[in-house]
Amino acid sequence: MKIRYKMNRRAWMMLSSTGLAMRPAPAQAQDAAPSPPAGDLDHVLPDELLLKDYRPKSIYKIPVSEIPKARYPAIDCHHHAQARTQEQVDEEIRIMDAARLESSVAFCPVGEGPTYRAEAFDNAYKIYSRYPKRFYVYCGLDMRGVDQPGFGPATIKELERCRKMGAVGVGELHDKGMGIGGVIVGPPNWRGTMGSGRSGGGATTRARQPSTPIKGFHPDAPQLDAIWEKCADLGMPVNLHVSDPYWSYLPQNRFNDGLMNGYSWRLDNKPGIMGHNDLIQSYEAAAKRHSRTVFIASHLANLDYDLTRLGQIFERNPNFYADLSARFHEASTVPRTTAEFLKKWSHRVVYGTDIPFSQHLFSLTYRILESTDEHFYDQDFYFNFNYHWPMYGMGLPDEVLKQVYRDAALSAFELARSKAKG
Ligand SMILES: [Zn+2]
Repeated sequence: MKIRYKMNRRAWMMLSSTGLAMRPAPAQAQDAAPSPPAGDLDHVLPDELLLKDYRPKSIYKIPVSEIPKARYPAIDCHHHAQARTQEQVDEEIRIMDAARLESSVAFCPVGEGPTYRAEAFDNAYKIYSRYPKRFYVYCGLDMRGVDQPGFGPATIKELERCRKMGAVGVGELHDKGMGIGGVIVGPPNWRGTMGSGRSGGGATTRARQPSTPIKGFHPDAPQLDAIWEKCADLGMPVNLHVSDPYWSYLPQNRFNDGLMNGYSWRLDNKPGIMGHNDLIQSYEAAAKRHSRTVFIASHLANLDYDLTRLGQIFERNPNFYADLSARFHEASTVPRTTAEFLKKWSHRVVYGTDIPFSQHLFSLTYRILESTDEHFYDQDFYFNFNYHWPMYGMGLPDEVLKQVYRDAALSAFELARSKAKG
């Protein structure tokens, strides 16, 4: 028997994190497997409980910090423009004010590869530019025809048009293995347990997968040279997401450290994709060859598990930055290592979130960065999504917080502007 579940708000938020929310979402989850109602799950004994339903609650009597406002003014360097009306932008501003978010980038929902829509930039620009001091509006890249001869000039022309209109950066772009503008195909992914609240359970959903693969270009492909140079000429930083969490590429078995999360974003079963290590190498090669172009790597360049390597990339490439977005959980699982890394590289790591604004979102990220709280969960919320580990505060010192929240972002923008021609 098949039971169908409606896509709920939490599922919607998850999809938005990948930019998928910008595409038409299926009204109903596909091929959903049934889960027992939450009340029943509370009585399932350990020998029958599934890992996906595991929702431990901390028993420790220890401090719980409430941090609704950042200690210093913050800039969100990874925010997808969700608003479609002026009122929705006004609401984002209200949440930003309450959370002490001074400003934010706004990635416009233009789509990538074959789905690019110029009017999505125009529409988003119109409503977000009403607050010029609060939003840095980014455009995308028109990658239509990436697999056709003659690709390139039209992309540059559209980039110039967006810059003229007011775009100040480019992103978020993606290469998870089929190149920028490419399309990955493969069996549908398990989308995790979402929706029945903190007691666990909920629908197991599967996202719709495209059926026709498209090969785009990896970051260091010569076909992209002119585009990256144009970004430098126009003084636009590029927010580029390359690869994905490491465990998405590993076998989905009992040895996988990020198992339930890795399974919902799995790439180990997708044919024809470039692997994690090669993608990171391609990214660095692009940054090296285009040293005037400022790259802001999304999600700690997916090197949250190997910060030493990320530090080496920073060392070799002064034009390479990274944002913290959507990696708060991974980073807070190793709080001392991450704190040491941030102390060294706070001038190159920028704050970012990646999901729709809410007070809860900001309070949680501030708690992770500022507090020394231990062993806390926020399961079913984005940052704890499908992980079974607890989180820990990093207790970052003031100087590091100032940099990560704001100054590193301003220096990245300034570096990009200083390279502009004309
Ligand atoms: Zn991303």
